[in-house]
Amino acid sequence: MNKVLISMDQNKNFRAYTAFTTDMVEKMRDIHHTSPTASAVLGRVITCTSLMGLMLKGEKDKLTAIIKGGGPAGQIIAVSDSKGNVKGYIENPNVDVPLKSEGKLDVGTAVGRDGTLTVIKDLGLHKPYIGSLKLISGEIAEDFAGYFAYSEQQPSSVMTGVLVDTDYSIKAAGGCIIQMMPDATEDLISRLEQKINSIVSVTGLIDASESVKGFHDTLFNGFEMKILEERTVDFKCDCTWERLESALISLGRKELEKICHEDGEAELTCHFCLKKYHFDKRHLERILSEIEE
Ligand SMILES: [Zn+2]
Repeated sequence: MNKVLISMDQNKNFRAYTAFTTDMVEKMRDIHHTSPTASAVLGRVITCTSLMGLMLKGEKDKLTAIIKGGGPAGQIIAVSDSKGNVKGYIENPNVDVPLKSEGKLDVGTAVGRDGTLTVIKDLGLHKPYIGSLKLISGEIAEDFAGYFAYSEQQPSSVMTGVLVDTDYSIKAAGGCIIQMMPDATEDLISRLEQKINSIVSVTGLIDASESVKGFHDTLFNGFEMKILEERTVDFKCDCTWERLESALISLGRKELEKICHEDGEAELTCHFCLKKYHFDKRHLERILSEIEE
């Protein structure tokens, strides 16, 4: 159940991307064996990145979010295509920090607050677009909202959350990104802000909703909304032999010759899906002969 509703209010004051990503985050957890805190960290990041992927205009466009916060979670990377298919990586999937006083997972402390969120958009142009800003709280939603405001001059509200069950599986995950349109009225903005501020727990709301539509309707209760699109997103890796071969080639001829002669084989693991690629001697020799040409 990984659904995104793209909607707009009747007066075209704002656009919303509302998501249920419980299965997507569970799939991520199953691959990376993340601790509850790491599930919350990476789950929030892949949810936001997937929604930003859906905002891309070109079919082959790609978006990468890199978070370096200086906290025990280490570096976090997520990459989405324009269909919202996202892959993600967390340097320390076992990160564990004490719960906050209200019993919530402490994402901000795990990520750290002394660092940056960098967004790279590959739009098929000569150079990718790169926007980077200092982290605000390390809680992810606030940091992405900051990115929209400062790097894209797009006032936005971002909510995201992951609820981890007692057996560490993902009970609920999702979020919402609301983008204000340039001529949104002051009255509407303050009404929307009030509404957003009244939400005590995003994950509680997702968990209590039967469907993404139910979550959407509760979020925007009191506003006249029009659903524009319904999309399905997923946690999916796009690694290939060719990609891993180029990783080997990038080691350089000398290093590769050394591996070929001393070890006679090489094994590379994709960071995003942990799939192992085994290169035997013949394969390594072929790569070497191709570099020669
Ligand atoms: Zn992969």
